[in-house]
Amino acid sequence: MTGCGNQGAGVAAMRFFDSHNHLQDKRLYSLFDAVFSLAEGAGIAGMTVNGTRPEDWSAVREVCSRCGSCHPAYGVHPWFVDALPPDWREILFSFLDSSPRSSIGEIGLDRWKTSENFSLQKEVFLWQLAQAAKRNLPVSIHCLRAWGEMMEVLRTEKLPERGFLLHAYGGPVDFVSELESLGAYFSFNGNFLGRPRKMPPFLLVSPDRLLVETDAPDMRPPPVFRSLSQVLDCQGQELNHPANLPFVYAELAKQRRVSLSEMAEGIEENFNRFFCG
Ligand SMILES: [Zn+2]
Repeated sequence: MTGCGNQGAGVAAMRFFDSHNHLQDKRLYSLFDAVFSLAEGAGIAGMTVNGTRPEDWSAVREVCSRCGSCHPAYGVHPWFVDALPPDWREILFSFLDSSPRSSIGEIGLDRWKTSENFSLQKEVFLWQLAQAAKRNLPVSIHCLRAWGEMMEVLRTEKLPERGFLLHAYGGPVDFVSELESLGAYFSFNGNFLGRPRKMPPFLLVSPDRLLVETDAPDMRPPPVFRSLSQVLDCQGQELNHPANLPFVYAELAKQRRVSLSEMAEGIEENFNRFFCG
């Protein structure tokens, strides 16, 4: 089953879309068959698998070659800008060119983990954002404790015509309307169901700008919003995985005061418009 253009031949089963995960992460990749079969059984019909640095881009491509519902995203995450090979830009081009479904991610700005290398983070982010704009590719953006700088970039730089995704949006609720006018999609992370202060933007986001994600294997939702089928790493630690999404969708629909089917249909349209349009 694919996330683009496959409408299920009239079958009315609920379909869910994970707009941002890391299935290439070693903790999940070693359990790929189980994780993928749980996802398929839960109705996960499209996923975007985000790379974080040149070292994991091959694994992203490998995952997506094994999983018809997976879309690859290649990019340098702000945590990994310090040790890039000199030819990382050419390597990125070769991965982007390797599939018509490629997008750019995960990229962004982060003052939470460190701000010592912030000027390098910004340089790497701006260059990748410019490539997304030039090619009109989907782009998945991470921002932690750098919303002032991020807004300045989004207000002044050329952006992809199709818009851009703010993954696990954690910025102020007051920015939502301006960000929508700049072309933002906002992906809701199930982990926020345990952090009420993160919820207000997602109760306000327009239905045609809303997406949902896991950020798996991290950012687990609270236990009550997880699948009964657990995925454990080799230390017995429970990992987040895409089959948790139906529980997250259901609670988000309840809080947005819409039916689950209406919200799921809207998110499917948004996913297809943003990642496949
Ligand atoms: Zn991520």
